[in-house]
Amino acid sequence: MAEITQTQSAPTTPTAYAYCAWHKGITRDVRLIQIEESGSGPGTGRQRFACHPCQIRYGLVPLADR
Ligand SMILES: [Zn+2]
Repeated sequence: MAEITQTQSAPTTPTAYAYCAWHKGITRDVRLIQIEESGSGPGTGRQRFACHPCQIRYGLVPLADR
């Protein structure tokens, strides 16, 4: 009964399948690159994810690695 329960699901952790905002498709192993603040109310910041090939192609650095 000593299981580690993670109550927080950080948005910076890799997701199984998600939308890559750079090549505009659903793919695996995306990372959170940036959060766009639209500034028109709470919780409206859009998270932009990129897959690994796009990180290399566009020189993107995940937020968690900065
Ligand atoms: Zn991509």
